[in-house]
Amino acid sequence: MDLKSKIRVIENFPKEGISFKDITTLIKDKDAFKKAVDLVVEDLKEKEVDYIVGPEARGFLFGAAVAYALEVGFIPVRKPGKLPGKTSSHEYELEYGTNTLEIHTDAIEKGKKVAIVDDLLATGGTMLSAAKLIESLGGEVVAMEFLIELESLGGRDKLGKYYINSLVQYE
Ligand code: 5GP
Repeated sequence: MDLKSKIRVIENFPKEGISFKDITTLIKDKDAFKKAVDLVVEDLKEKEVDYIVGPEARGFLFGAAVAYALEVGFIPVRKPGKLPGKTSSHEYELEYGTNTLEIHTDAIEKGKKVAIVDDLLATGGTMLSAAKLIESLGGEVVAMEFLIELESLGGRDKLGKYYINSLVQYE
C-alpha cells in the first residue's frame, strides 16, 4: 500500500500558492491509517518512550493512535487558551507574525522520554516549539515522527539535533 497515493493535494489552500497536503483521505482509509500508525509505532519500539506529545490539531489524530498502540500516555500541545490547567507557553516566529503553543506545566516529569508526533513537517517551527516546551519541563525529546515531510522547506535542518522520521516525502 502506497501511503502517498492516499494523500489528497489541494492547490491554493488555505492561501494562494500553497499546495496543501490533505490527510483526511488517508485517515478515512482503514488500511492506510493503520499502516501509517504501525510504521511510526515500529520506528519508536526501541526508543523506550514514556509519552507521546501531539501538537493541535492533526498531531492529536496520529499521536493518540500511536500512544495507544505503544501503551504509553498522550500529552496534547495546544494553541493558547485551550488547556484548562496551569500552562507553559512558547512563542515562535512565522513568515508573517508569531504563533504560540502551550502545554500543561505538570504534564511531563523530569527525565521522561518523549516522542513528538505530527502530521507534517514544513519549516519545523511547530516541532521546535513543542520540543522547547517539553525540554523546559525537564523532558527529553528522543524522536520526532511525521507522516509527511516537505523537504524543500528545510525543517530537518532547523531540527538538526533531533532524531527525525517521516513516512512520505514531497520535494
Ligand atoms: P511548520 O511549523 O513545520 O512550518 O508547519 C507544520 C505544521 O503546519 C503542522 O502542525 C501541520 O499540521 C501544519 N501544516 C502546514 N502545511 C500543511 C499541509 O500542507 N498539510 C497539512 N496536513 N498540514 C500542514
